[in-house]
Amino acid sequence: MNGISDDRNIFIVRCGEVALKGMNKPYFERMLAERVKKLLRRYENVDVKRSDGLLFVRADRAHAREAILAEIGKVFGVSSVSPAVETLSDLDAIGAAAAAFLRERAEKDGIGTFKIEAKRADKRFPVKSPEIASRVGAYVLGVCKDLRVDVHRPDCRLFVDVRKEYSYLYAQKFAGFGGLPLGTNGKGLSLFSGGIDSPVATFMMARRGMRVEAVHFHSFPYTSERAREKVETLARTIAVYCGRFDLHAINLLPVQEQLAERCPEEEMTILLRRFMLRIAERVAIETGCGVLITGENLGQVASQTAEALIVTDEAVKLPVMRPLIAFDKTEIIDKAKEIGTYETSVLPYADCCTVFLPRHPVTKPKIERIRRSEASLDAEALIAAAVASRETVTIYPAV
Ligand code: ATP
Ligand code: MG
Repeated sequence: MNGISDDRNIFIVRCGEVALKGMNKPYFERMLAERVKKLLRRYENVDVKRSDGLLFVRADRAHAREAILAEIGKVFGVSSVSPAVETLSDLDAIGAAAAAFLRERAEKDGIGTFKIEAKRADKRFPVKSPEIASRVGAYVLGVCKDLRVDVHRPDCRLFVDVRKEYSYLYAQKFAGFGGLPLGTNGKGLSLFSGGIDSPVATFMMARRGMRVEAVHFHSFPYTSERAREKVETLARTIAVYCGRFDLHAINLLPVQEQLAERCPEEEMTILLRRFMLRIAERVAIETGCGVLITGENLGQVASQTAEALIVTDEAVKLPVMRPLIAFDKTEIIDKAKEIGTYETSVLPYADCCTVFLPRHPVTKPKIERIRRSEASLDAEALIAAAVASRETVTIYPAV
């Protein structure tokens, strides 16, 4: 009916920031197309093509449109996606396709009014956009007697995107996450707790194209097996977006016991955080990660005052990226809900940080005092033992 024999579902994928990447644009587009292909690989006979800064995804009608849309929506770098109808770039063919599209909407959803919005990506097309819209509208009115035009508040706004050989009709635009395609921005090691913040922080870095791995500290047997399962569940949820990754679990208890024995109680938290970073830095170097990622957030708790963060950073050479540093907690919670980690994060299992918790942690630690306290520890031996004892599991995306 629309002059095209290929009777498949089509999706127009817009690339957002990828489109701004100047000279590197082909590289980013290729990476994006690869990611879309990868996420759709379990569907047979899917075709992904790049053209004019867009991706065109075609899939057999046997695959549910919603399922394909949901998969595409998880790809970083996608700003929006529209299920579309493809037709020849000929006004009669476009008119017929528009009529068929709107008639179906009238039958299924009971729409009574519409508006056509046209855009000519191919300026050589002989008819200008406003006229395309009015001629397609007239065609629809000619064959769909129950429909009327309403340019102010239509029940259905139908977009017509006229391109060189083919044109595309769509009425819906689903927002993606934006960001950049995975694999375009190095690899980071995320300090991954069972809390609300670190899964969101990991997501945020992956959204900018960074591949991630994760390290989790526990204090078994003070922390439970269920706490560990909770962390793996969170990791699987994150893997839905950032793909399979390794999670390194490390028992921090030997460090905590020595700190409790030899250091002032109020310095316990800051000292522990310096150890976490040092251990993570070693793991990062071994696993080819160039940065550390944490869910720290300015002023949230005693260990996250500006002074405390400066003293924490001083323990390592690798950059520490803190994508949530300036968020409000409510914003972090909203994001956690959006990506599906919140429900798991709030399950009440003890974390290693709650073991040996000081009653009055220092909020303005002085680096000289902290160094003095550390001088009484077997730091190198503790760090080396922690790194060597790590247990690594590969995390696969939750289905
Ligand atoms: P979260 O919700 O991520 O647990 P939080 O507000 O509870 O964060 P802290 O417990 O002080 O904050 O931890 C700050 C950051 O330190 C976390 O976001 C995470 O990156 C890292 N971190 C804390 N506990 C652990 C842990 N058990 N294993 C790995 N990283 C941790
Ligand atoms: Mg925590």
